Amino acid sequence: MGHRIRIIVLLLLALTPVAAFGGNELPQSCTYQTFKWNVMLRKSVAHETVRHPYSELTPEERDPASGCSVCEEDQETVDIPPLADFRVCRKLASQVRSAVAELIRAGEPIHEVVGYRVGRTRGDPDAAGNRTGFSNHSYGIAIDINPQQNGLYDNCLNFGSACRLIRGGAWRPGVAGTMTAGGAVVRAMSGVGLRWGGEIAGKQKDFMHFSPSGY
Ligand SMILES: [Zn+2]
Repeated sequence: MGHRIRIIVLLLLALTPVAAFGGNELPQSCTYQTFKWNVMLRKSVAHETVRHPYSELTPEERDPASGCSVCEEDQETVDIPPLADFRVCRKLASQVRSAVAELIRAGEPIHEVVGYRVGRTRGDPDAAGNRTGFSNHSYGIAIDINPQQNGLYDNCLNFGSACRLIRGGAWRPGVAGTMTAGGAVVRAMSGVGLRWGGEIAGKQKDFMHFSPSGY
């Protein structure tokens, strides 16, 4: 009889999810709203809500370096009044919260921060002109600061008159709230491992944008 009870107890233990023991509990489900950026229409299309068990995350739904996913369940809200709240991956949340709060305390004019936002805005377009890869905002590992003063430019190997503003407002270094190399915001973000999109190689310059790679 004792033997049988021991077997039953072992079976129950084996069937109990690891999460029940505390520690790094994984969410039960993964939910997110997404879209595709269409390069021909120059607008977002194919908006949809995705929901599936967390155990069925696909490789593209998780950023391998950070372990952050596209799931709302992996995001944490950062609330620094009077700034409107925004979400980032919970692995980054405390560092980003401290850095932004410190900048605001120091008088830095930060009016708007956008973090988690799932969408396929990267990668080669498919036949319909829809981009195919998730942006780093999709994983909650990128933030945009003051987009109305720090636009995204295309055709912009080096910043100059040939650059074409495709999102946000014009970049005018010297105006308060504008990101610059070596400026307080760029330095603070670098301190938490986020590189500035104003310094990335390639045809685009994304002056509002910060992420581990800058892209
Ligand atoms: Zn961005």
